Amino acid sequence: MRHFSTVLNGSIISDGSILSVVNPATSEIFATYNQGRSEHVDLAVEAADEAFKTWKALPDTERVEKINALASLLESNMPELIQLVTQETGKPINGLNGVGSIMEVGASIAWTQYTGTLSLSNDLLEDSDAAHVEVVRQPLGVVASITPWNWPLMIAIWHVIPALRAGNTVVIKPSPLTPISTLRFVELANTILPPGVLNVVVGEGDVGQALTSHPKVSKIVFTGSTATGKHIMQSASSSLKRLTLELGGNDAGIVLPDADVDNIIEKLFTAAFHNNGQTCACLKRLYVHESIYDKVCQLLAERAKSVKVGNGLEEDIELGPLQNELQFNKVKQLVEQAVQDGARVLAGGQPIEGVGYFYQPTVLADVTNGMSIVDEEQFGPVLPIIKFSNVDQAIELANDSPYGLGASIWSSDVNQAQQIAQLIESGSVWINDHGAIQPNAPFGGLKQSGLGVEFGEYGLHEYVSLKTVKVCK
Ligand code: NAD
Repeated sequence: MRHFSTVLNGSIISDGSILSVVNPATSEIFATYNQGRSEHVDLAVEAADEAFKTWKALPDTERVEKINALASLLESNMPELIQLVTQETGKPINGLNGVGSIMEVGASIAWTQYTGTLSLSNDLLEDSDAAHVEVVRQPLGVVASITPWNWPLMIAIWHVIPALRAGNTVVIKPSPLTPISTLRFVELANTILPPGVLNVVVGEGDVGQALTSHPKVSKIVFTGSTATGKHIMQSASSSLKRLTLELGGNDAGIVLPDADVDNIIEKLFTAAFHNNGQTCACLKRLYVHESIYDKVCQLLAERAKSVKVGNGLEEDIELGPLQNELQFNKVKQLVEQAVQDGARVLAGGQPIEGVGYFYQPTVLADVTNGMSIVDEEQFGPVLPIIKFSNVDQAIELANDSPYGLGASIWSSDVNQAQQIAQLIESGSVWINDHGAIQPNAPFGGLKQSGLGVEFGEYGLHEYVSLKTVKVCK
């Protein structure tokens, strides 16, 4: 059994109970780690605060060199990281249409590399006989990063790399369900970074609470559920910490009558079912025009029945298990409730017998807004398909949600789809695709899906404060 070290202030911490991590496909323990406590949070924040003094003073070019070195380090450790991500999340190595652990680690490298290319220069507003006015970008201090279990390494990278690039230091707390790839990343990164610049503490919500309420933390970047995001906002208020919150989503897709159904089915299916539906910006409710409703339902159900579900370490597996028991039970209960409420099961609808949290890929028809399977974030391999008769009604139904992360319009008329995109209440709208994120485009949620954005210069700027320096002549 391999034990994964906790690195804090550049040193391995080995006190704290030893806890295990289970592979959700086999229910077997594959790794152990040391449980963090609030004392570790204090030590980590103190170390990060001390390291900030020198890290912030480095020329930006030196920090970029370190970021590039981190990208190379991730690259040279890719096979190990891919294996660890699959073992802790259950996500297949390749996955449905290439959405799996190879993609997770590959994207982690790509985002790291891209963040190294961004500009963080100051803005010159005026240089006249009267005044010289400059806007200076400065790092904030210690950043607390709290991550979820669904894309553990990639989300850690999305938090840590821009924070470091901008001159901050970081304490990261991964989910105790999937801490392993993050522990390994932090251990590797500490072979390059000065002590204290990147620290990790693993624990439950109480450890997260200790970190997010720590008076020496200047900013929190959190990815997780909306409920936890609200707690964190309260923790942040005591010292008015800056916040980036990437929260839950209940993304709608709208399929217009002119959509090329045969050509979009595979993309629709992947958007809804990749990572077993456990992605914030998965397609979680699909609105289809009545003229093509039966055909879309039938084709998606056929695809769901053909999917290869199993242990992600085996070749050709498209979908793995749900990551944990809580999520498994939630999905089971939502489907049972939907059936009671009148949903028609076109595919799946049941857990898969045997070891592991496996659930049949499920397609539900005859569902409506107001049913919990449509209104709530299912975060599992279940797609409810809702019929609509006119576009205005579809827009209204799509917007009828407290969430506003992503949405998609599927149509052969791109101009019309672009007009509809303006009316959709979400941080991203994709046309003829869904969840197609990229490192230079801002990603974040409206309404209760979050605050602020990640990625590109837009995201990088969330890790600095603006200071106006005016020389009066
Ligand atoms: P979660 O909110 O249960 O946990 C997320 C993290 O918060 C974990 O590390 C957990 O230990 C920690 N935590 C729990 N209570 C805390 C507290 N009081 N203070 C500080 N930290 C605390 O979420 P999850 O179940 O791990 O992840 C699934 C959710 O994440 C889904 O809702 C999904 O949509 C969302 N998500 C959003 C995005 C996005 O970019 N918007 C991306 C991925 C996942």
